[in-house]
Amino acid sequence: MNVTYFCKACDKVTRVPFTEDSTAVSCSRCGVEHAFSSNFLSSDEEGNRTLDRCTICGSHELYYRKQFNQRLGISIIAVGATLSTIAYANHNLFWTFLILFVFAGVDLLFYIFMKNLLQCYKCNSEFRGFEDSPEYQPFNLEIHEKYHQQRVRLERAEKERQWREQQAANQSTDDSDQAGA
Ligand SMILES: [Zn+2]
Ligand SMILES: [Zn+2]
Repeated sequence: MNVTYFCKACDKVTRVPFTEDSTAVSCSRCGVEHAFSSNFLSSDEEGNRTLDRCTICGSHELYYRKQFNQRLGISIIAVGATLSTIAYANHNLFWTFLILFVFAGVDLLFYIFMKNLLQCYKCNSEFRGFEDSPEYQPFNLEIHEKYHQQRVRLERAEKERQWREQQAANQSTDDSDQAGA
């Protein structure tokens, strides 16, 4: 398995391998260790090991998605569309549709054979290389929205705190100016 997470120590995204016995990972860029929550594994009804929570932030809410490379998917469609437009300009309807059809099929095949990954709603860490389990849930907009709102509130609180600190600092310089005058 491996985890892709945002390292707060160096402000960069890093991907590091870990095993079922790991208790921590070290950032591949700055080496800062990130301890796991003690019990991040569980097992499903069939007895397979499952990832029960995000090892980075400890949140239980993870979702399951295809590791689809959107840029690649869009590029394939774009090339197909360009080629079929050329065929269309040359009044060749057979090739126009054949090209579109083949490129859409290639995109679909990519999608089907893509591996899955688990992503944390809270901190966006991604987990790859785990075994599939029916227990993993697909993306849920409500849960996503919940964490999104939480993040917005935290950011707003942080900005207010900075603003108050700034005000307090200005106040004290004003006071000392007056004291000096
Ligand atoms: Zn780091
Ligand atoms: Zn997380």
